[in-house]
Amino acid sequence: SLTGSNIHLAFGTNKVLRGVDVHVDAGKTTTVIGPSGSGKSTLLRALNRLHEPDQGDILIDGRSVLKDNPDKLRQRIGMVFQHFNLFPHKTVADNVALGPQKLLGLSKEAARATALEQLESVGLSAKADSRPGNLSGGQQQRVAIARALAMKPEIMFFDEATSALDPELVKGVLALMADLASTGMSMIVVTHEMGFARSVSDTVVFMDHGTVIETGPPAALFDNAETDRLQQFLAQVL
Ligand code: ATP
Ligand code: MG
Repeated sequence: SLTGSNIHLAFGTNKVLRGVDVHVDAGKTTTVIGPSGSGKSTLLRALNRLHEPDQGDILIDGRSVLKDNPDKLRQRIGMVFQHFNLFPHKTVADNVALGPQKLLGLSKEAARATALEQLESVGLSAKADSRPGNLSGGQQQRVAIARALAMKPEIMFFDEATSALDPELVKGVLALMADLASTGMSMIVVTHEMGFARSVSDTVVFMDHGTVIETGPPAALFDNAETDRLQQFLAQVL
């Protein structure tokens, strides 16, 4: 499990996170929704300490990780962004093998074996020796997911992983994320895909202006929103 407790984070005078509580149980999926600028991406970056929180605690399996080496924490959390940032001059397999080789210290052969295994799990074995530029956006995002999984993370973060994709490619990536959730990966997913939030998540967190306005199971939030703010947000996006 991962818990962010009372997370505060400011950029200068801009208080972007103002006491956020977020939690994902082992093997479960928590989805974070909310308007643009509400602090969703910043929350993920605070939870893996790409931005150090000003206040609050981050716990994995109940133990605070704030005193640990941040690089060690980031190895335990796989991250997938809107823009996949694959190396264009490396093959797909090399893109996936790079982390295991450089950061986990695997031999070249072992790293390639891990890469091929992960590419198979995302249905892209056939593209192992292609360059990323020869793949569709959806395939490239699946490679980015394989790259994150190759590091054997305990938890996966997704930040609008499908927002940059052509509409016809979104489904495949969401299906892969849903598969991953069903295999017991712990995931925190920032998304504008309300269908995914509703059908895949165990818990939904609605954020606005750096605070959590409502949180609970999807049915409670989507069918029985308690606050005007969530009702208005849902009216805009559904
Ligand atoms: P979106 O849905 O558009 O991705 P978001 O909910 O992810 O929005 P954030 O990207 O977390 O929102 O941004 C929240 C606020 O933090 C914004 O006011 C933004 O300008 C500010 N912010 C984010 N990153 C930085 C940064 N590195 N330096 C300064 N301000 C930042
Ligand atoms: Mg964002």
